[in-house]
Amino acid sequence: MRILVVEDEVKIAQFIKRGLKEEGYAVDVAADGEEGHFLLSSNEYDVIILDLMLPKIDGLTLCRTLRKEGNHTPIIMLTAKDTVKDKVKGLDSGADDYLHKPFAFEELLARVRVLLRKKDSRVQTQLKVENLTLDLLTHKVTRGEKEIELTVKEYALLEYLMRNAGNIVTRTMISEHVWDINFDTFTNVIDVYINYLRNKIDSGFPDKMIHTVRGKGYLLKK
Ligand code: CA
Repeated sequence: MRILVVEDEVKIAQFIKRGLKEEGYAVDVAADGEEGHFLLSSNEYDVIILDLMLPKIDGLTLCRTLRKEGNHTPIIMLTAKDTVKDKVKGLDSGADDYLHKPFAFEELLARVRVLLRKKDSRVQTQLKVENLTLDLLTHKVTRGEKEIELTVKEYALLEYLMRNAGNIVTRTMISEHVWDINFDTFTNVIDVYINYLRNKIDSGFPDKMIHTVRGKGYLLKK
């Protein structure tokens, strides 16, 4: 899952980025509304964390613009002010949620999870494909009785494959949802991580779940 943070206060932006990355999210940061708008027009994000007071284009305007352009990515708006009026304004502009500073990182994380669940339009804390289970809260992964230890990146990649189980995912799709903007398209890093996952998920099991679709990408089979 890839998240865009639009926040001009470097400290807060880095605090959010670091925390989300530790949870396995791919995170890009835009320092003003204009850069945010640019990144949103060239990349696909699963959630946007949008500060209200921003240089160039403010959060409310950016939010309204995105909705007008047909971008329905879930938005959490951040603001220094905690007034009902501001909250109503934020929600009226098309934001899905609202959080005022200072906030506990855990709360932001919980709200991100809620929005990702809503995006999936089903309430779930677990992904399950055949005998493979991924717990979105504890990050525990099991196949059958076997508990599987994954690195943060492997976990993020598996989560993406499981959310798209039964469908081919291309390397571009994977890079857009699991890696951040610094991803180098000329490396074989995705193939390397797919192999790591294969060794952990499929080795020792007669039925292989992760399949390569030649010339297209990868498929997690149901
Ligand atoms: Ca700000």
